[in-house]
Amino acid sequence: MTWPSTSPLRIAVVGSGPAGVYACESLLNWADENEQEIVIDQFDALPVPFGLLRHGVAPDHPRIKGIANTLYAIGADPRIRFLGNVEFGTDIVLEDLRRHYHAAIFATGALADRSMRIPGEDLVGSHGAAEFVTWYDGHPDVDPEWDLSAERAAVVGVGNVALDVARMLVRTAEQLEATDIPEHVREGFHGTSAEVVSVIGRRGPAWAKFTTLELREMGKVEGLTVVVDPADLDDDEFSREHRESDRRAGQVFAQLEKWAAAMTENGHSSPDEAEESALAAGQKVLRFRFNRSPVEILGEDGRVVGLRLERTAPDGERLQMTGETEDLAVDAVYRAVGYRSAALADIPFDDATATIPNSAGRVLDSPGGEPIPGLFTAGWIKRGPSGVIGTNRSCAAETVRELLSDLEDGRLTAPESPDPQSVRDLLAERGVEAVDGRAWEAIDARERGLGEAGGRERTKLANREAMLAEGRSARTRS
Ligand code: NAP
Repeated sequence: MTWPSTSPLRIAVVGSGPAGVYACESLLNWADENEQEIVIDQFDALPVPFGLLRHGVAPDHPRIKGIANTLYAIGADPRIRFLGNVEFGTDIVLEDLRRHYHAAIFATGALADRSMRIPGEDLVGSHGAAEFVTWYDGHPDVDPEWDLSAERAAVVGVGNVALDVARMLVRTAEQLEATDIPEHVREGFHGTSAEVVSVIGRRGPAWAKFTTLELREMGKVEGLTVVVDPADLDDDEFSREHRESDRRAGQVFAQLEKWAAAMTENGHSSPDEAEESALAAGQKVLRFRFNRSPVEILGEDGRVVGLRLERTAPDGERLQMTGETEDLAVDAVYRAVGYRSAALADIPFDDATATIPNSAGRVLDSPGGEPIPGLFTAGWIKRGPSGVIGTNRSCAAETVRELLSDLEDGRLTAPESPDPQSVRDLLAERGVEAVDGRAWEAIDARERGLGEAGGRERTKLANREAMLAEGRSARTRS
């Protein structure tokens, strides 16, 4: 097809998290700059938009709200039609997208937990970070019950998700009072018992993936003492060079060093002593333990009772096991060892990296293979689960550049059925109750109303049926 064309460009974006919304933003910017008509249908399996921004960001991180407002504003553009509660692969399939759109962008993110591949992961009390995060963030598809009775917990991994999980474990219901967590989660936090949370790094502190701001924040949590063993800070020359040349790694190390120094300054001769003293003073304890690799989650009667760790030796970037083990008595283990994307029906998937094979966002038929015309990808399913929310903006912009270059070069095919109503009809025929923008506005208004009643900005709904009911009532009112 030749471009410009007299009919609008029709794009399907599958996924309405940050990457999907930023892809819409890039497309709209192009349309504005080139005075082109564009229509974007944004599908999401959930009845509500914003993906990980809504169901992945910790509720005690209100500074993310600025980003939320930007995404809300982009999503409100009338050229974007939100179609929530529509699952790609069942409610709508690849063949449908080919028939109704010039191109499709897959931005479905990553919300499954990677496995540590050690025995005991299936014990009661062993959790993936994503399971906990989606619970406290009110994801409608997760069990509303969460057992917060563990007094001692281990969080495996030294990235920002581990910090979110550890911080939320030591939070009290009062500290979460002003947040947007759903009512059942608020209730759940009244039963929280965590006293000591250990964060486990399999390598030395120079290789921790925390960002500085997120790590420093742990020192500001009310009622929490952070304990770092000075002995854990020993490292080798390669690690030292790394933290000296990498600003973030250097700042993270310096913060850990401060906590280690505080232990000595406070007159404690060991981290155990520092922990006991903090507990005796009515504090909760966050304890970092580095150079320890989990080898088994220990259980009794099907429940977690401990975590077996093998000491590792500082050896630059490499993980060198020593054979020396120690058992940490814990009632719960949370693995925050990275997320994993799920494969999408009829879309190539590289199982090794859990991403869609792509070249700068153009979907390839296999890793290193040929581009499939009209199919694109953005965000974590494109590049893997790394980077902050803003990283998805440049990632999505790159994808959209490739899409527009294909458009200009005539590599996109005009859809057989471009009428926007035909997609609504198709979903209705299949009995899919799509949540459109108006229905989402009704859900949003309901959440703000619930929040206002409790003196908060918002209280999230977390039940799919309740969300759909709000949407239905909006349709009835109009
Ligand atoms: P991450 O930063 O990649 O950290 C994963 C951690 O798990 C690493 O410390 C890794 O250690 C460890 N790990 C992996 N496999 C392991 C195993 N088998 N045993 C023990 N440890 C293991 O991933 P993430 O924490 O899931 O975060 C994902 C992305 O989201 C990151 O870019 C993060 O910054 C971002 N995020 C940002 C915020 C925020 O800005 N507030 C909040 C949450 C997440 P090795 O290094 O040794 O592999």
